[in-house]
Amino acid sequence: MNAPLPPWIHEPWLRLHRARFQDRLPPALLLTGPQGVGKRLLARAFAASMLCRQPTEQGLACRRCPECHLLAAGNHPDLIQLTPDAQARAGEISIDAVRLLIGLESLTPGRAARRLILIDPADRLNQSAANALLKTLEEPNAPTQFILISEHPDRLPATMRSRCLRLTIPIPPESIALAWLNEQKPLPDWPLRLRLSQGAPLRALAESEDRSDRLDQRNRWISDLMDLAHGVGDPLAIARGWQMIELGHILEWLIGLVADLLRLGVCATPPLLAHPDRHPELVELAARLDGATGHRFLKRLLEMRALTDANLNQQLVLESLAIDWSGLTRSD
Ligand SMILES: [Zn+2]
Repeated sequence: MNAPLPPWIHEPWLRLHRARFQDRLPPALLLTGPQGVGKRLLARAFAASMLCRQPTEQGLACRRCPECHLLAAGNHPDLIQLTPDAQARAGEISIDAVRLLIGLESLTPGRAARRLILIDPADRLNQSAANALLKTLEEPNAPTQFILISEHPDRLPATMRSRCLRLTIPIPPESIALAWLNEQKPLPDWPLRLRLSQGAPLRALAESEDRSDRLDQRNRWISDLMDLAHGVGDPLAIARGWQMIELGHILEWLIGLVADLLRLGVCATPPLLAHPDRHPELVELAARLDGATGHRFLKRLLEMRALTDANLNQQLVLESLAIDWSGLTRSD
């Protein structure tokens, strides 16, 4: 931990801190919340605090003791991280990885009072790995603190969820998120960037540091869509220009865009738009969008997003999206 925790993480932090000092920590924690709200930040801060010899008054790691130095160097023997196997199918955490971990778990911790096992993302445990882990959760062999991280806790077996203390980190209020982002680095377009990151501040920050600037990509993409809606350009040629953009982002932007149009269709000033910088053009488009067709398109997009982990043919998907969008919005 190099910086104090962001303000919206204080409350979950305090809950953990109190539970720890009142000796009420269950063997497993489950940290949930959308992408980019700070689940990992909280998990790491908590792990660091558990390993540290002299935590601060707020319970944060001191960053000066030998344990903190080992942790900062990335080789503390009592922090074990379980992440998806790069070789495994669909990025799963396999039973082999869990077996290895159980082998380690049965040994007493090397330096700290208890060993910390971080499973990230926990929803990638395959069925047999989850079953094996569950046994260990129920009958740990040595003092162990499990920390599970997941954006999709509904994908975890209910039996496992029920063994965990669950803490959900929410999307912070926009004003708090913007103040924090401006402290990290001042950028004039944080409000739009934050909106495009679904309100998740760490995601907005990471995307602003991405070399292929997500905001530039999105600006070009939305201009393409506006062209198509006004009958300018060929959908297939335009779709070819989107090849460099991750399909997941395009689906997310398009879902936001269609939802904006549907909301504008029923209400002139909806509280939050996914694409607020295009408000006037969206109002004009919303006026000629057929609601039922729009809802069908949105449903299809949501189904596609659920499949993005699968091997979709990106080029075909992009072409069909561009064609459908033109059909949906073109005025003739
Ligand atoms: Zn320390």
